[in-house]
Amino acid sequence: MRKNERIRSMLALLDEHYPTEDKCYLYYENEWQLLFATIMSAQCTDERVNTVTRELYKKYPTLESFASADLSELEQDIRSTGFYHNKAKNIIAAAGQLLTEYNGVMPSDIDKLTALAGVGRKTANVVRTHIFHIPSIVVDTHVKRITNKLGIVDSDDPVKIEFELMRLLPKENWGRLNTQLIAHGRSICKARRPDCENCFLNVCCKSYKG
Ligand code: SF4
Repeated sequence: MRKNERIRSMLALLDEHYPTEDKCYLYYENEWQLLFATIMSAQCTDERVNTVTRELYKKYPTLESFASADLSELEQDIRSTGFYHNKAKNIIAAAGQLLTEYNGVMPSDIDKLTALAGVGRKTANVVRTHIFHIPSIVVDTHVKRITNKLGIVDSDDPVKIEFELMRLLPKENWGRLNTQLIAHGRSICKARRPDCENCFLNVCCKSYKG
């Protein structure tokens, strides 16, 4: 099967098996809560982040409270998400930037978002997808692994993968690709043991040798 055919087949099958609306697995009630939850989700599961943020956002209910937070106290508050020194430092700095540079209003521009402390393209694209509904491709660990396995991309670099996927995929699929591949990665194409025999994508997967 040629790459274009593989892509068409993959998109149709994903739409057949998984929801076609963008779904965010992180808990949040406003834009900066999603930004901070996404920063905390690096190298951590969404479930763990959600457990932490449900309490955290009660303790720090405003951007101002994050901007003026005590660093070592915030570190302890988010310790269980891992890499908590950097995450806490970045959250405090990003809260300050949002207040001083944007009057507390989240920008939607990718360059402005990625200029915030601790915000790379993945985090920026999560915000663009779920807050601003701007077509964006979030390349997380599932998207990276599965698109490589399928033979749609051939790279370890999330930014290269994002640009390649933007070139190859119709814009209407960008937002939901992440939601659908997370679902697929959690249920079938697991990192340690992909269930290729029972995978509905095996008809278009370059790695499948069945
Ligand atoms: S066939 Fe195997 S490697 Fe390919 S997407 Fe399915 S589970 Fe993943």
